[in-house]
Amino acid sequence: KGIYYANNIVVATGFYDIPFLLNVPGEELPKVTHYYKDPHFYAFQQVVVVGANNSGVDAALETWRKGATVTMVVRESGIGERVKYWVRPDIINRIEEGSIKAYFNSFISAIEPHQVHIQTPDGPVTIPNQWVIAATGYQPDFSFLQHLGIQLSDDGVQKPSYDENTHETNVPGIYLAGVVCGGFNTHRLFIENSREHAVKILSHIAAKKIS
Ligand SMILES: Cc1cc2nc3c(=O)[nH]c(=O)nc-3n(C[C@H](O)[C@H](O)[C@H](O)COP(=O)(O)OP(=O)(O)OC[C@H]3O[C@@H](n4cnc5c(N)ncnc54)[C@H](O)[C@@H]3O)c2cc1C
Repeated sequence: KGIYYANNIVVATGFYDIPFLLNVPGEELPKVTHYYKDPHFYAFQQVVVVGANNSGVDAALETWRKGATVTMVVRESGIGERVKYWVRPDIINRIEEGSIKAYFNSFISAIEPHQVHIQTPDGPVTIPNQWVIAATGYQPDFSFLQHLGIQLSDDGVQKPSYDENTHETNVPGIYLAGVVCGGFNTHRLFIENSREHAVKILSHIAAKKIS
């Protein structure tokens, strides 16, 4: 612990720290994770993947390719439209050929240590299960931004207030970089198109120092 003094602060906290929860009984079990890492860990085991966007699709394909039995539970009617165009046909074909089972328009109703209960359009289904990868997305820590005095838009996006040219927020000396700039629009900014943030911020700080 200590007190640090700075003339400028750059907040680049991203949005992966707060997952959207399933809010179902059993979500607190250690077999449930919102953070997918190593596919080998799941080899030859029964895995449920919740969600069908980039993270969920990657988890389903990679764990299946390492020998897991994979079931996807997707509340929408199909695989997400924003899934990378070279990956989307792969998952659709694996589902169509029956290698990966997918329940669309469906959601998990409860998780137990050795099984998962799923509500499907054809009624409730219970399947044996060892691991649940909940790839349900994340949200930025808006309360942290507000605590710093940064204003958020009230249009539902909660986009932080900052100057697009300098990335300085409404709080002088506090800058935003990376995905956190987008509010709930977390898909609009990624590595490639966030690099310019650093240039804008450092140019502005350097100019302040000279003047
Ligand atoms: C499966 C997957 C595949 C992806 N593929 C690509 C790709 O191919 N190309 C691409 O451009 N993007 C890709 N992305 C997106 C990319 O990962 C993000 O856009 C990028 O990481 C965002 O960078 P960031 O610096 O804004 O935030 P992050 O990388 O999330 O970094 C935020 C950092 O801040 C820390 N932090 C948070 N809160 C605090 C706090 N209060 N105090 C201190 N530290 C804190 C976090 O621990 C973390 O280290 C992918 C993402 C996923 C999930």
